[in-house]
Amino acid sequence: MNKETFAAQFQEELLTTFSKQPDEATNKEAFQAIALLVNKEVNSNWQQTKQVHLSNDEKQMYYFSMEFLLGRLSETNLLNHGWYDVCCETLKEYDFNPAEVFQEEADAGLGNGGLGRLAACFLDSLASLNLPGHGIGIRYKYGLFQQKMVNGYQVELPDYWLKDDYMWETKRSEKAIEVHFGGHVKPAYVDNKLVFEHYDYEKVLAVPYDVPIVGYATDNVNTLRLWSAESTNNPFHFNSVQGKDYYHYLDYKRSVEKISEFLYPDDSSYEGKLLRLKQQYFLVSAGVQSILNQFLKSNQPLNELPNKISIQINDTHPTLVIPELMRLLMDVHGLGWDLAWELTTKTVAYTNHTTLSEALEKWPEEMVRKLLPRHYLIIEEINERFCQDIWFNHPELRDQIADMAIISYGQIHMAHLAMVGSFSVNGVAKLHTDILKDRVMKPFYTMYPERFSNKTNGITHRRWLLHANPELASLLNETIGKSWIQEPKELINVLKYVGDSSFQSELARVKKKNKSRLASYINHKHGILVDENSIFDVHIKRLHGYKRQLLNVFHILHLYHLYRENPSMNCTPRTFIFGAKAAPSYHFAKHVIKLITTVADKINHDPAIKDKLKVVFLENYSVSLAEKIIPASDVSEQISTASKEASGTGNMKLMMNGALTLGTQDGANVEIGAAVGSDNIFTFGLTADEVFEYQQSEKYKARDYYNSDFRLRNVIDQLINQSFTQDDVEFKDIYYSLLFNNDEYFVLRDFDSYVEAQQLIEQTYRDQSSWLKKSATNIAHSGKFSSDHTIMEYANEIWNISSSQYSKA
Ligand SMILES: *Cc1c(COP(=O)(O)O)cnc(C)c1O
Repeated sequence: MNKETFAAQFQEELLTTFSKQPDEATNKEAFQAIALLVNKEVNSNWQQTKQVHLSNDEKQMYYFSMEFLLGRLSETNLLNHGWYDVCCETLKEYDFNPAEVFQEEADAGLGNGGLGRLAACFLDSLASLNLPGHGIGIRYKYGLFQQKMVNGYQVELPDYWLKDDYMWETKRSEKAIEVHFGGHVKPAYVDNKLVFEHYDYEKVLAVPYDVPIVGYATDNVNTLRLWSAESTNNPFHFNSVQGKDYYHYLDYKRSVEKISEFLYPDDSSYEGKLLRLKQQYFLVSAGVQSILNQFLKSNQPLNELPNKISIQINDTHPTLVIPELMRLLMDVHGLGWDLAWELTTKTVAYTNHTTLSEALEKWPEEMVRKLLPRHYLIIEEINERFCQDIWFNHPELRDQIADMAIISYGQIHMAHLAMVGSFSVNGVAKLHTDILKDRVMKPFYTMYPERFSNKTNGITHRRWLLHANPELASLLNETIGKSWIQEPKELINVLKYVGDSSFQSELARVKKKNKSRLASYINHKHGILVDENSIFDVHIKRLHGYKRQLLNVFHILHLYHLYRENPSMNCTPRTFIFGAKAAPSYHFAKHVIKLITTVADKINHDPAIKDKLKVVFLENYSVSLAEKIIPASDVSEQISTASKEASGTGNMKLMMNGALTLGTQDGANVEIGAAVGSDNIFTFGLTADEVFEYQQSEKYKARDYYNSDFRLRNVIDQLINQSFTQDDVEFKDIYYSLLFNNDEYFVLRDFDSYVEAQQLIEQTYRDQSSWLKKSATNIAHSGKFSSDHTIMEYANEIWNISSSQYSKA
């Protein structure tokens, strides 16, 4: 497509859709016209890809996830399709500012954080590698809340992302599916066969909205299918819609619509709410039924199911696929238990994302029995057979049956069900997988060693480098050629240039430009002037105790005290940048946000500090904001309490953009460190084993660190001595959590070693050539962390799917 053709089509689209000439069109109309243009092109490829998959009878993979954190799609779709440059040129020619036009698209924020973003990166890699893999999710009417900062506090506003039509979706009413909740189950004998009759249930209609997933430089188009809950027209077989029945109907309609209304805003924590369970079953039932329908159209025997379909469940949230597939195979398709079980457990694979006990899903038996009576019976039977299996075949585990059971103490343990009912269990970084095998899931590993494997997370370098950092991408193209775009490991060729002074100065120029752009954004948005030559030290991720934003703040306060007491001290100016949403009910996290904004306010306005320190809390951390911050980062804060962060993916995005990691030996930091070498990462703090050791021995005494380190004492005392606010209760919860609840996340324990690592960073930064060499080395090794690599491992080692390309040519 050349510019003339694109410009003509753009003009035509504006005319037919909005009856406008380019000079009359608004940014929104321009955006919509472009999306329509892209869709026209994509739709025919999409249709063709489906045909090819169908006629070649290839195995398909379905990625079930309660979250897909897509962000915007217009720019990446254009890039992947090779239209980005002509589109920008056309827009400029008609006096549009492309960035403003693309901003008209709302972020699809259908996810909380890393887990949802991982699902989105995986979709991009699947499509770009021509793999037949699709997403199955929920079309929440409201995505993750919008964070508004008011007087330094987080206020949550609903994210009505569908206010304007979502340009990338197609509603497929004809593919709607019924999902049944509640009711009763009655065993009966029909033709000498035991059957379960389900009656008096509530019907909900699941309507799919399909989003095409466009791969890079390929005509192949995969599908993300998002399900929306609608009421059926005649749920109770009313004869008249009058009086009582009418109100009854309204209540029903309202309760149905709630199912896909909003995303639960908790990350790494478990909500034992009925509505959440409904959402999970809604996703699972609609998804599995539609997959089976599609499979059955091919007239293959059900025995073929595991050879034609893999279902990957993203954490335990969609674990009900296991009893749902059992139900469909037995109750609808008439298979016996043993065959149904064999097919189910050869089809489903499970990814574990956390070992935090507060995040492990456990549903009350009673709730499941009421909402899903048939599934409850199936889960009971799975549990029964599993416990028997341990008893008879694994006597060494007999004394652990109670800990391993799927149902115990009135609760259903979803991780146990997921491990028992699937052929693959994977962790998301080497350390995390080892912790699963050696500790958290040890008895399951003893029983099923062959099921466990590691698949270290990854990120799509197309969004996080090619799209987010175009200047760096061009520098790389000029230096090592363009092959890295399709073969990210080719980035390793940058190693030849890491010591090259002209490459270094180009790299410095690019970073400076990105920092300057972020500085304008910060000034524009928050009215804070930051020094573009300062170190941009970035801590962006969900706010959580284990991610230890508090440790970062304590170091900032320590620097503040140091600089006030030593005004002539020689120091490198720093800008500390935070972005983080806290779950609305997570009070501790909200106190930490308020502490960050309070400290920021104090430091930014202290004339004694001048430009030495600035602290910025950027509002509403999201995919689009991450794309602005990451290319401008010098230091990547990855400072979780060791053992707590399963992988992290923010760490990968930042290294890929040349930031140096300041991190604990946790999650994928360990693998980043191994890839770049210890000279090119700043590591500090307790190791995971040391953390486990402390937890077992109960020898940690946070107060000892407070008593013996005056720096910590100064910082911690400030929390309650009214030096920030008149209100002395604001930060007392934080104070208590450290000194009275013994500092669960070892902030005080790691403080000294963190300060030391920060000093080393400052020293290193002063030698720009050395810094740039390290930065370039990080970029060179970042190809390893592309989700293309991760997805190839899943495809070969778990799903057994292979590339097959539809190509127009
Ligand atoms: C990558 C990403 C995350 C995950 O960040 P971590 O540092 O791995 O926790 C969360 N939110 C958004 C918007 C992201 O892009």
